[in-house]
Amino acid sequence: MNIMVIGAHPDDPDAMFGGGAMLCREHGHSVCMVSMTNGNAGHHEMRRTELAKRRHEEAMAAAKIMDVEYLIMSVNDCELFPTLENRNMLITEMRKFKPDLIITHPPCDYHPDHRYTSQLVIDTSYLLIVPAIVPEIRPLTENPFYFFSVDSPMSNMINAVLPIDRVWNKKVKVWHQHESQMYEWLPWTRKKLDEVPKTEVEKLKYLSSQRGARHIKTANNFRDLLICEFGEGGKSIRYAEGFCTANIGKKLIQDDLVKSFSLSDFLKIGDFK
Ligand SMILES: [Zn+2]
Repeated sequence: MNIMVIGAHPDDPDAMFGGGAMLCREHGHSVCMVSMTNGNAGHHEMRRTELAKRRHEEAMAAAKIMDVEYLIMSVNDCELFPTLENRNMLITEMRKFKPDLIITHPPCDYHPDHRYTSQLVIDTSYLLIVPAIVPEIRPLTENPFYFFSVDSPMSNMINAVLPIDRVWNKKVKVWHQHESQMYEWLPWTRKKLDEVPKTEVEKLKYLSSQRGARHIKTANNFRDLLICEFGEGGKSIRYAEGFCTANIGKKLIQDDLVKSFSLSDFLKIGDFK
């Protein structure tokens, strides 16, 4: 199966589905991560051209750990809009990769680039199969499944969880590649640059606790389900990625995730629509 993870900035797809991507690779599925912008506004000191280059290198190092394809579009950070040009660019990339499952930001996100990425992805959902649209590239014969990646603050939307404990340390190493964000830009925005440790070991520990909170919350919110599914083992699952069906594209029916993706850990919650 082909899984496409579409985020606004280089590091967003990693955060949304980094753990899932590595589990999918173990099952032999192909994963393509896409950043709709070059991320060149995410720094307090670096110039935009240098930053775009640095973030490209960081994303490629992360892609190597996850063993996935990683595409970065040339749109400037904070300047993404749901234009026809961007929609057709996305349709072209999707038709080349032929995804069975697409994961993206939810449409109600804080960042305009995240929201417009979500809008652009939603806008492709029917057009992928329409031959008259972007006629130079063959349309898909079937619409893919669509998922939104959901953070713990919106956990009431979650209807699928994926425990990622087995690849958690690797996911932390993936974030560790995005140095410009994890150890410079994001702490600067929080006025907490002085809390960033100096050694590699301490940095990984810091990242695991900084970035782990939302995944711990997701696992805790669905503890009963995890115990019901995995018995005693469900009690100790610490980290989970959360998703919500997007209600566009192909309809997910019960057990689709398990049957189609052989991901027996992917848990469905409630009814998929
Ligand atoms: Zn982002």
